Amino acid sequence: MKRTLAEPFKIKMVEPLRVTTESHRQQALQTAGYNPFLLNSDDVFIDLLTDSGTGAMSERQWAGMMQGDESYAGARSWKHLETVVKQLTGMDYILPTHQGRAAERILYGILGGKGKVFLSNTHFDTTRANIEFTGASAFDLMPDQALDLELELPFKGNIDLKKLEEAITHHRPENVAAVIMTVTNNSAGGQPVSMENIRAVRTICNNHNLMLVLDGCRIAENSYFIKQREAGYSDKTYEAIAREMLGLCDAFVMSAKKDGMVNMGGLLCLRDDKLGRECTNLLIISEGFTTYGGLSGRDMEAMAIGLTEVFDPDYLHYRIRSTAYLGEHLRKKGIPVVWPIGGHAVYVDAKKIIQPDSGSPISGANAGVRFIYQRRHPLRGGRQCDVWQIR
Ligand SMILES: *Cc1c(COP(=O)(O)O)cnc(C)c1O
Repeated sequence: MKRTLAEPFKIKMVEPLRVTTESHRQQALQTAGYNPFLLNSDDVFIDLLTDSGTGAMSERQWAGMMQGDESYAGARSWKHLETVVKQLTGMDYILPTHQGRAAERILYGILGGKGKVFLSNTHFDTTRANIEFTGASAFDLMPDQALDLELELPFKGNIDLKKLEEAITHHRPENVAAVIMTVTNNSAGGQPVSMENIRAVRTICNNHNLMLVLDGCRIAENSYFIKQREAGYSDKTYEAIAREMLGLCDAFVMSAKKDGMVNMGGLLCLRDDKLGRECTNLLIISEGFTTYGGLSGRDMEAMAIGLTEVFDPDYLHYRIRSTAYLGEHLRKKGIPVVWPIGGHAVYVDAKKIIQPDSGSPISGANAGVRFIYQRRHPLRGGRQCDVWQIR
């Protein structure tokens, strides 16, 4: 079993934790009805809920916060963010939003509607909710093989190309609003998607004149896996791989609370003029003017810096390796985990370990799937892990 590595950073600030007793935690859990979303964070010693927006920022990000330009329009911090994101995406329309789901609501609100269909490797839960809210339908098209949680595949987050072709024919191309590739594939265990797969999806979209959206919350992590596992990429930088992925897509939706390395923020980026203008109008109505979209200048400054720092090879290597380290050890102890270990999280197959008759509060029919997330950054969480239960 490979070892983990030393953190490629120093910690210069600490946030005190309240030390609690086991009986205190038991009481808190009971009061919360065993729903971790209802716990007070002060009662949680190791916070296992999610890595979304929970990480610490770097010294450069904090320095950037102090230099945030809070002008209403045309702020320096906006220009900085726009430049960084344009370089990454090559797209003309860069819309800042307060979270990923705000970007989703704007885009899918326009593309969706009754009778429309969205096809994806896997729709993340907020993606599916925003699509279904418009009256449209969302279909997940994972290869059957990938549904075997223990099978080792290098790109277990891929979409099934044959299923995609069949779905387009079945629903008819004119009803397909978009194909969405989620990288990494969060709901399927944080598993990566190969460049080959995205390229093939692009070809299929071209053949049927369909729009391809990249849900790229974890685009840097996905780039890491492509460089490590896919032929022809070992000499490319992580940024170059990310740019290549984005170059194949028409739109980019991102929760910056993931690979944006900030506590709050999102992005919606588009190539098409007409759609770009429509989304811009909706942004102004619901989020904010085009040069801040519901974010403070300092938030945009931190995001611009985070989107650059996330491609640091030492950081990415540490992040992915330490996640795998945790997962490999759990597996060795006999805990059934989604294999191989994904990028940001270790996913535990809870149904396998919860005894139906154990009297456990999460037993039998109401036992959902439990996820163990690695927290976003080092003291940013050390080797803590997050558990998230969904029903
Ligand atoms: C987190 C996430 C979202 C939603 O982003 P929020 O910032 O939480 O609104 C969408 N898609 C994927 C794949 C995500 O991981």
